[in-house]
Amino acid sequence: QRQTVGVIFGGRSGEHEVSLRSAATILSALDPEKYNPLPIGITRAGQWVTGPAASEMLSPTSSPDAVAALDTDAPALAPPAKVLTALADVLPQLDVAIPVLHGTYGEDGTIQGLFEMLGLPYVGCGVLASATGMDKIVMKQLFRQSGLPVVDFRWFARHEWVANAQRLTDSIVEELGFPLFVKPANLGSSVGITRVDDVSNFKSAVELAARYDRRIIVEKGYDVREIEVSVLGNDHPEASLPGEIISSAAFYDYADKYSPDSQSQLVIPARLTPDQTAAIRALAVRAFQALDGAGLARVDFFLLPQTGEIMVNEINTMPGFTRISMYPKLWEASGRSLPSILNQLIDLALARHAEKT
Ligand code: ATP
Ligand code: MG
Ligand code: MG
Ligand code: MG
Repeated sequence: QRQTVGVIFGGRSGEHEVSLRSAATILSALDPEKYNPLPIGITRAGQWVTGPAASEMLSPTSSPDAVAALDTDAPALAPPAKVLTALADVLPQLDVAIPVLHGTYGEDGTIQGLFEMLGLPYVGCGVLASATGMDKIVMKQLFRQSGLPVVDFRWFARHEWVANAQRLTDSIVEELGFPLFVKPANLGSSVGITRVDDVSNFKSAVELAARYDRRIIVEKGYDVREIEVSVLGNDHPEASLPGEIISSAAFYDYADKYSPDSQSQLVIPARLTPDQTAAIRALAVRAFQALDGAGLARVDFFLLPQTGEIMVNEINTMPGFTRISMYPKLWEASGRSLPSILNQLIDLALARHAEKT
């Protein structure tokens, strides 16, 4: 008896397009002997669709250029009654769900909460880890409290900026200096992020971030080597070999991540000393556990070349699964194929579900 696996993609976030690509990779890698995959799309308006409408979302023609995701003009939401009807049609068919959604309304605990309410097993982190991992402010506060090294940062709400832009600018610049990284608290794929090298660009950077979120984080910027580690497991998570990203832009921005002409490179495994590798892998597991992670996550690090200092940049509880994504590549380098990783993720989802009930 094959299990019906709902692969859920798209969604109401700035990372909609990335999700489509991740889902296409996962759908093609699920073992057809074991699973009956059911593609489920969530439109930008939040409507759930299956069948031809879902396949249509995945067809390459409907996602021309990934950079289109920078468009923040979200369409009006589908009426709740219509969404509920669609959910009632789709979700009872599933044995397990894979929410291949990045960013808000997918990676942030909201859809995980829906699955919890329904008692439906799902791949990946639960509500708490998803919500805290998505919010760069809360995530960094928790990491810091867990003794993990993080960059210095400040944060404020949009309404504070509206009331006090000049005062905030002065005090942040005085405290953190340049360069700065200005980010929406909740998002991913570098959407809404700006590197700011002098004060003249600070205002527009904040205004861009504020289009995506009510809360904005400003971090001290460093010239860094960027190292990433894949984590897999529930109670006893394993860390992959680390990989390095050599970005070809001022930083690893959206185009550098996803554009077909990107010159960025992944070096797998990262060229590190055995001590550095061990330290980074241990930190990845600690970061995962600090948020009560489950299933999977990718932990991103900064390595300061001058001092050798290692800092945890962030955790991604539903990392990219596109053909070029780091998460599956790191496991592949550790000798584990994507189909076998997906088997394991589904087993972990079922085990976690069984433990709860
Ligand atoms: P992801 O796609 O990994 O979810 P994200 O949108 O959550 O990305 P970050 O990983 O926080 O964003 O930042 C994106 C990129 O910006 C980093 O990979 C790095 O290149 C650069 N960057 C972010 N913060 C800093 C910093 N404090 N110092 C130097 N570079 C930074
Ligand atoms: Mg992220
Ligand atoms: Mg992300
Ligand atoms: Mg990142």
